[in-house]
Amino acid sequence: MFRFAPSPTGDMHIGNLRVVLFNYIVSKQQGDRLIVRIEDTDTERNIDGKDREILEILNSFKIEYADVLYQSHNLKFHQQFASTLLQTGRAFNCFCTPEELDRKREEAEKNRVAFRYDGTCERMSDNDVLNMEKPSVVRIKRPDTSVKFNDLIKGDMEFQPEDIDNFILLRQDKRPTYNFACAIDDMLSDISTIIRGEDHLSNTPKQIAIQHALGYGKKIDYAHLPIILNIEGKKMSKRDSASSVKWLFEEGFIPEAIANYLFLIGNKTPKEIFTIEEAIEWFKIENISKAPAKFDIDKLRFVNREHLKLLDAEDLSKRVGYFDKTIGEIAKVYLEEASTLNELKSKIDKLFSKRAFDGEYGESVKILSGIVKELEPIEEFSEFKKALMSKSGLKGKNFFKPLRVLLTGEESGPELSLIYPLLKNYLQKIVE
Ligand code: GLU
Repeated sequence: MFRFAPSPTGDMHIGNLRVVLFNYIVSKQQGDRLIVRIEDTDTERNIDGKDREILEILNSFKIEYADVLYQSHNLKFHQQFASTLLQTGRAFNCFCTPEELDRKREEAEKNRVAFRYDGTCERMSDNDVLNMEKPSVVRIKRPDTSVKFNDLIKGDMEFQPEDIDNFILLRQDKRPTYNFACAIDDMLSDISTIIRGEDHLSNTPKQIAIQHALGYGKKIDYAHLPIILNIEGKKMSKRDSASSVKWLFEEGFIPEAIANYLFLIGNKTPKEIFTIEEAIEWFKIENISKAPAKFDIDKLRFVNREHLKLLDAEDLSKRVGYFDKTIGEIAKVYLEEASTLNELKSKIDKLFSKRAFDGEYGESVKILSGIVKELEPIEEFSEFKKALMSKSGLKGKNFFKPLRVLLTGEESGPELSLIYPLLKNYLQKIVE
């Protein structure tokens, strides 16, 4: 079983989308299934509705999942397993106050050593623990030996016990920490492969340590995806608008292209433009580069345009807000100079907008418009042009520019001979 475990704490980041796409594709390759686990135990940071938004995004990408689980529904299991670890001596109650710990942390920093929990409460007797009247957290006992695992991208990894440390499992309010909830939920869902962002690499030995302490023996495969850098070489963050999947949609990038692009960066692919279904045939998680991936919006624009070209006219028309195959065909012509749905839509909207008859060519556009109103339908563009030229008496630039404005609403654009055959049936509507 594979899992995608987003926190409903903000807009879905492209890094997270890449994680779920990779999980989806590898689960498909292995004939396995994918579950979505909404990690909602950090209640202060949850944002209402973000879980639904995440699921809607997965639907837009046609990512199939077997189930949606909410981490908060497992709270009783988190507490039960914490009790088990306390009973078996693999965890202990810790009464150190945040102030005491901060003081020790500052001291460690002054001495330029990494702060480690010093084991004060680990050595308390059962009686002392029972007699304590202070609130406590539950900490795991650090493992005796190093924790090793093989990462499908990064290779062999090994973490020393002191780097794993006596970390917290349950907070004072008895809510689990991320590492504890995650390790338990992965066990309960029988997860076999975890593909997630590299920022979780140092959490993995902690989660393995929890599972080992509980006697869980299943070997999980891990793949930690390198971070995505922006064009300036810095980690893509909320400050980069393009890091938000919602923003990319709002800008007119389509799911087919965004998915294609996220499979392309930091990877070796046999071709540049492909669908998710095609990628299932050849994708290898092991081929993902260890180095960070780079996000280049210009490249995404190129990929987006190529995918827009692949859509059939009816589909394209719908995506720019019209429901007419011929308008989709007009949009296809405009793909020469537009890369996103928004750019395309603004061209098509202009084409069907009421002409203003202002600016340098306004007067002439008005004359041509008046002529077209009286004109019988003409099949050929060359005939149409000839008729308008002779009836208006306009010539050269003074004819062609106004003609273009009349037909397209703009002073420059694609070949009119390409547009005219598609537009001729809408002419009377345009000059209305
Ligand atoms: N909820 C974590 C996050 O969104 C993911 C945890 C995981 O994949 O283990 O970063």
